[in-house]
Amino acid sequence: MVSEIYFYGGLNQIGGNKILIKDSGESLFFDFGVSFEDQGRFFAEFLKPRGVKGLGDYLAFGLIPDIPCLYRTDLSIPPNYPCGKPPVDAVFLSHAHVDHFGYVSLIEEDVPIYGSEITNKIIESYETSGTGGIEKEYLNIKKRPYGQYINYRQWPKATRHFYKWDDYKGGIQVNFFDVDHSVWGAGGYEIDVSDRKVIYTGDFRQHSMRKDLTKNSLKKLKGKDIDILIIEGTNVGNEAEEQHTKMLIETIIGKPLNKKLTSEEELKEKAINIIQPSKSPVFVDFGIRDFDRFKTFYEIAQECDRKLVIPIKLAKHLEDLQSYIGIGPSDGNLLIFHEPKGLGSYHEQDSYKKWERPLYKLSNVKKSDELVKQMNSLIIFMDFFHLKNLVDLKPSEGIYIHSTTEPFSEEAAVDFRRHLEWIKFFNLDYHYLHVSGHMSAPEIFQVIEDLAPKKLIPVHTKGIELFKKRYKNTITPILGKKTPL
Ligand SMILES: [Zn+2]
Ligand SMILES: [Zn+2]
Repeated sequence: MVSEIYFYGGLNQIGGNKILIKDSGESLFFDFGVSFEDQGRFFAEFLKPRGVKGLGDYLAFGLIPDIPCLYRTDLSIPPNYPCGKPPVDAVFLSHAHVDHFGYVSLIEEDVPIYGSEITNKIIESYETSGTGGIEKEYLNIKKRPYGQYINYRQWPKATRHFYKWDDYKGGIQVNFFDVDHSVWGAGGYEIDVSDRKVIYTGDFRQHSMRKDLTKNSLKKLKGKDIDILIIEGTNVGNEAEEQHTKMLIETIIGKPLNKKLTSEEELKEKAINIIQPSKSPVFVDFGIRDFDRFKTFYEIAQECDRKLVIPIKLAKHLEDLQSYIGIGPSDGNLLIFHEPKGLGSYHEQDSYKKWERPLYKLSNVKKSDELVKQMNSLIIFMDFFHLKNLVDLKPSEGIYIHSTTEPFSEEAAVDFRRHLEWIKFFNLDYHYLHVSGHMSAPEIFQVIEDLAPKKLIPVHTKGIELFKKRYKNTITPILGKKTPL
């Protein structure tokens, strides 16, 4: 039997990976992510794919592959379009970043999803604390009765099941290996089809506190007879993005970009050097599900005799993942920001969601007027979505540490320019302390040379030409077509 590989995303761009492997009548997807680049080309904050059209707008712009019967039948227009068994047996996720798992929400709910235990937990917590809508229904599905009016409370419910990767019992042998990345629980897959060994790295790096995860996994893979290596290449050929970030910071803030940092330890040291001598409030921006960075700033706060103020969503993640992270929402070194909602009464039913209410009852919850009084002894989480709180906190000066991994590619397409304007408006001293969530280009090349695959397929990169120049065995797949192997 000859196995086949198809790429439905993640080519010549950062993210949106969707890799289909077929062998002996079995079909497995590896990742089924949102492409922010493709979505952003046509859609924006107030111009979103219409929920009322189900999959219609997604298919019209090619945001999801047009594979019959792969998707939820209730989202097919016309409704309940007759469909047999879905054409895939399972979806395996490399990690809990939206550009790798986001469109799982649209897939037929009977298709089982596999990932690491932490990946599954993070996705569940993300859904609970999120906004809802068809793009965010990963585990809990509300089936849309299109074309008839039924109150949404009465829409039929369904559940999509997430399993640990080793629960899969199919003919294709799938083995997960841990890697270090800017979200916990990340990994790659070793896939043994009848005629080949395929390695898919997912997104990876080897320079945070958990760098050994990657190093140990690579050690185990070295020497294996690898036919195809599907490797991420975010930091290969990404100079244009870096230049753009640099230009925006220099134009708006009027300060050169800090030197690139290469490890979490270096970031910690630099941040302490900035915060320790200061008597002003400190604001920080990091990925809300980047628990490495959370722990780094938790430790920085302790060393600088400050408390770390976190938003309610992060408190929810700490509650749901306490057994992995080891720090819970009521930890003595944390405060939780009580944001005003609805009519500003702070009453638990004043527009607060059900999952928020018990958390807002914790004793370390503080409103903005309580935070203002002790602001100089705090490090306050202040990402793009929470900048509004600066209006209530009214800092006259302070420090802003921008510590988001990959502002242009991962998670949300945040408006970086507006972000910088807010920091400038509030007269905050800006520092960009950034450690990439991905391997550097020389590290990527070293991995390729160590693993010595017969064929190489770079994904999640804009630098395909650089790979081709360097490695004659590089294959460039065509979107949606059978890859010539
Ligand atoms: Zn990614
Ligand atoms: Zn990622």
